[in-house]
Amino acid sequence: MVVDAAGRLTFVGAAAERPADAVTATDLRPWVVLPGLIDLHAHLPQLPNAGLGAGLDLLTWLDRYIFPLERGFDAAAAERLAPVAWRAFAAAGTTTALVYGAVYEASLDVAFRAAEWHGIRAIIGKVMMDRLTYDPTIDPGAILERSLRESANLIERWHGRDNGRLRYAVTPRFAVSCTADMLRESAVLAASSGAYWQTHVSEDLGEIAEVARLFPDAIDYVDVYDRAGGLGPRTILAHAVHLSDRELGRLVETGTNVVHCPASNLFLASGVMPLGAYLEAGLSVGLGSDVAAGPDLSIFSQMRVGFYAQNALRASGLTGGRVLGPLEWLRMGTLEGAQVLGLDEETGSLEVGKEADLIAVDPAYVASVPGAEDPDPRDLVSRLIFRSHPDMVRGAWVRGRRLEGPASPD
Ligand SMILES: [Zn+2]
Repeated sequence: MVVDAAGRLTFVGAAAERPADAVTATDLRPWVVLPGLIDLHAHLPQLPNAGLGAGLDLLTWLDRYIFPLERGFDAAAAERLAPVAWRAFAAAGTTTALVYGAVYEASLDVAFRAAEWHGIRAIIGKVMMDRLTYDPTIDPGAILERSLRESANLIERWHGRDNGRLRYAVTPRFAVSCTADMLRESAVLAASSGAYWQTHVSEDLGEIAEVARLFPDAIDYVDVYDRAGGLGPRTILAHAVHLSDRELGRLVETGTNVVHCPASNLFLASGVMPLGAYLEAGLSVGLGSDVAAGPDLSIFSQMRVGFYAQNALRASGLTGGRVLGPLEWLRMGTLEGAQVLGLDEETGSLEVGKEADLIAVDPAYVASVPGAEDPDPRDLVSRLIFRSHPDMVRGAWVRGRRLEGPASPD
């Protein structure tokens, strides 16, 4: 590959065919180069509690393990955690991350600054909630106006920074913790500023029942966001495990994107997304770690758990639809993730004209016995998914710039 000064790929092909004026700077063999992975759902403040609370349901787990951590995520906590977190994303092979912060504006500035310095492609949003909020210092009557103003400030400072490497996602947490006013006004802010709009939908049966109780006029969960003006191609909804046919049809019709977070969904016993049926209906789907409900940041882990979960559904005769192979899972974690974000002109695959967002993996880490590395791409990707090793990502780059994180760069 040849990367120009702006970090774009100007040549991809056999070394012997490279342009005569290209300088060979790095020979990565025997590592294998892949597009950088795209994580469409993670919660930055929650990373310290990843892997804790197994066996609880969503709402209990939130109360016990998550809200205390987010309540303490002020600027000082962000200074400690954010640089470590971006390195951990890169170590897992993630070069683009769509992330929730906490409610405090200053902690978001810290998270953005850390991402700006680190080099990862990051889209971040301040969590908005005017119900069940964990910040007791704010007068409940003032939350909506203040949360909108702070989000607008952050958009002003960070959305589009560094030629679009950093972007903003307006982030109402979910319908249980937001009033209809908060949902509607946040959607207006996203539409008027060109930022993304992200929230959670239809993750857990208890949550769905609570949304039905809070929004008695809505047809269903998706309709709550539809009435708020929240659906569309700039919207990313996490989970979408239990969609009705009507909800699925409405998301497809509006071009709304969803994030499949299979490890999280099994960790919290939320359910198994009928992925094959959703894809056949034409739904736009990418992958997310959902740390900390998902126990680790690796998108390869999401592919493995998702693969097993779909096999279990099929073996139980519960759902049909498309069966995905290893390369299709890899595509969902790269190019299709970029399409969800509308960034597939910039990233998601290694093609001339795109930015050089890539990772290098060492096949020796996933070989079944030494020497059994796989020349066939489908076999190699199958092993990267099913025999993932935490150190197998040896390098990660965004726009051709090497990121800190992957073990012992050399
Ligand atoms: Zn989440």
